[in-house]
Amino acid sequence: MSSVVIVGAGQAGFQTAASLRMEKFDGSITLIGEEQHLPYQRPPLSKALLAGKQDVDHLPFRPQQFYVDHSIELMLAQRAVSIDRANRRVLLASRTSLDYDFLVLATGARVRQLPAPGVLYLRDIDDSLAIRSRLEQASSVAIVGGGFIGLEVAAVARRMNKNVAVVEAQQRLMSRSVAPVVSEFFLRLHESEGVKIVLNSTAIPPADVTIAGIGVLPNVELAQAAGLDVRAAILVDQCLRTSDPNIFAIGDCAERNGVHLESVQNAADQGKHVAAEIVRGPAKYDAVPWFWTDQFDVKLQMAGISSPRHRTEIQGSVEERKFSVYYFEGERLAAVDSINSPADHVKARKTLQLSREPTG
Ligand code: FAD
Repeated sequence: MSSVVIVGAGQAGFQTAASLRMEKFDGSITLIGEEQHLPYQRPPLSKALLAGKQDVDHLPFRPQQFYVDHSIELMLAQRAVSIDRANRRVLLASRTSLDYDFLVLATGARVRQLPAPGVLYLRDIDDSLAIRSRLEQASSVAIVGGGFIGLEVAAVARRMNKNVAVVEAQQRLMSRSVAPVVSEFFLRLHESEGVKIVLNSTAIPPADVTIAGIGVLPNVELAQAAGLDVRAAILVDQCLRTSDPNIFAIGDCAERNGVHLESVQNAADQGKHVAAEIVRGPAKYDAVPWFWTDQFDVKLQMAGISSPRHRTEIQGSVEERKFSVYYFEGERLAAVDSINSPADHVKARKTLQLSREPTG
């Protein structure tokens, strides 16, 4: 009977464990998580949970009983501290050691921090609850970083009637991920809702609460100390294996083909893929990336990976807040960003998936 040890009980780690049982894997599964909470979803932390519209009890993917019923040994509040690759063994801070046939690293990422005291960050449940309670007391809020998380927090704080200012170092919002027309749309949206946006700036305005959303650092230290190939993230091949074929890396901690993604889709699809590979053997991972963000009453859904070098075409109406931006590489569709247009998003995902699958 073979054994799988999964380090990191977030989106990717949970999905791997659940999918292994769906794939009828009958060996042992151990899921190790440093946090105290049952594995849970993070997107509501900057949306419904922060807005007080969802409670903590609704965040876990599954109740405790799920792990019992599926013979998944869930070890919470436990940190993996080293990997003995020669003996295929993981050591925990509690000094427990676990043998594996396959090891899955799903250690996620941690927030980048500013060299400034008193700034709040958002990555886990406790952060979200702490920010919520600070927002309730505050009248002014400064947000550093005009990326997805900073803007989602800005929208929630504004809905709580706070004075909100966002500072962004780049020339436009969400510049790493969307075309200028989408950045411009969100700038207007936030300004029309009363958020003050300062571009090209790193100067933090004085405020009762300062929250930074300035990106993440993948948790690579365990892999690095074990001698696996690592750059900013853990490097994996087309089958999501690290430089050791018995060790996979997935989700926010991993990088494939020079691409590092931070999304629910990426973590969940990679977890499913690794489970299938453990049961059925090596296979190429080829899922279409997608992502969403909710700000005020606007939903942005993204499919594929866009680049500034792509030619763009807009369909729909920017004024009516319902449009999609299509990104082309030559004649080939590379990505689509849809604003309040879920049907475009669904169609784009299908088109992008079909164009990846080999024909004939
Ligand atoms: P994580 O979910 O971070 O899980 C990694 C886990 O591993 C953590 O619990 C960590 O404590 C644990 N760990 C790390 N090292 C060890 C160790 N040595 N031993 C034991 N445990 C360890 N994505 C979207 O697609 N749409 C959204 O709208 C969206 N909103 C988001 C909002 C917020 C506030 C945040 C923080 C993220 C959001 N994301 C969103 C991103 C998405 O949640 C992540 O990409 C996803 O959670 C990544 O899953 P993961 O399993 O790789 O990492």
